Amino acid sequence: MDQMYDVIVIGGGAAATAAVLTLQNRGKSVAVISNHVNTSSLYKAEKITNYPGLPAMTGAEMSELFRKQIEESSAVTISGRALSVMPMGDSFGVAVGSEYYMSRAIILAAGITREKLYPGEAEYLGRGVSYCATCDGMLYRGKTVAVVGAGEEAKEDADFLEGIGCTVLRFPQNGKYEVKGGLKADTLVFAGEEHKVNCVFIIKDTVSVTKLVPGLEYSQGGIAVDRQMATNVPGVFAAGDCTGKPYQLAKAAGEGNVAALSACDYIAKLN
Ligand SMILES: Cc1cc2nc3c(=O)[nH]c(=O)nc-3n(C[C@H](O)[C@H](O)[C@H](O)COP(=O)(O)OP(=O)(O)OC[C@H]3O[C@@H](n4cnc5c(N)ncnc54)[C@H](O)[C@@H]3O)c2cc1C
Repeated sequence: MDQMYDVIVIGGGAAATAAVLTLQNRGKSVAVISNHVNTSSLYKAEKITNYPGLPAMTGAEMSELFRKQIEESSAVTISGRALSVMPMGDSFGVAVGSEYYMSRAIILAAGITREKLYPGEAEYLGRGVSYCATCDGMLYRGKTVAVVGAGEEAKEDADFLEGIGCTVLRFPQNGKYEVKGGLKADTLVFAGEEHKVNCVFIIKDTVSVTKLVPGLEYSQGGIAVDRQMATNVPGVFAAGDCTGKPYQLAKAAGEGNVAALSACDYIAKLN
């Protein structure tokens, strides 16, 4: 069996960093699953002037500080996109590509995803729409597939699919898309033009938190949490922009700290 971590933290911004540092101080074993730093909201900020203890700096500079702090912590860092969190009684399984990680508690610190789903995306997920070439690519060996996405992961996945013998149609992330078909998806419509494909691999930088954990409740545009940052799913805590407004760094860091302490209390009660 894979290693069982005390806590898996999903994200790499202010909320995740604060959670990781607090969990480290509490002696917990932690894995942090995070996309590249340049995918966070913070990275795009021109100048941050309201974060305590730090001079004014660009969002990119601050993102780099967070990345370094996580890297230098005792946490195991896993680069990639968490695709799903599966509750399994007293533990959780988290899928990242074709890899699988286990923990006793989860902290969601994934920021906000502004992208909407394409029409047909949710309907055909698992039936001709996939978020993971490594997981599902072999099913489409020798067939024509579409890869939608602009990031490094999308490029790698398209190359991988070509490498296993797929004919790959590559599409940018931004644009007007629709997935159509019958029982299975068979057509990708892009900018009004229809492309016949056997599978559409949608490789966005992030996965909307609404799709990460089954049964997670939402309220006022964010994950519903109590003052301990506990969600409605026992063992799942959330912090930062993903819990809703205000979208501010100091709020994200504070919530990350509270979520970490609450995760420690939760784990203590399991033992
Ligand atoms: C242009 C701009 C200017 C801003 N200026 C300020 C300011 O001056 N002061 C201020 O306080 N706030 C400012 N903010 C807001 C601030 O950036 C956010 O509130 C803060 O970054 C939220 O931190 P977070 O940790 O919740 O999320 P984020 O910083 O968004 O970090 C979340 C991370 O999780 C990763 N992630 C998401 N899904 C997954 C997944 N499935 N698997 C793995 N990783 C995943 C994301 O890629 C991202 O790296 C600004 C925001 C913007 C966009």
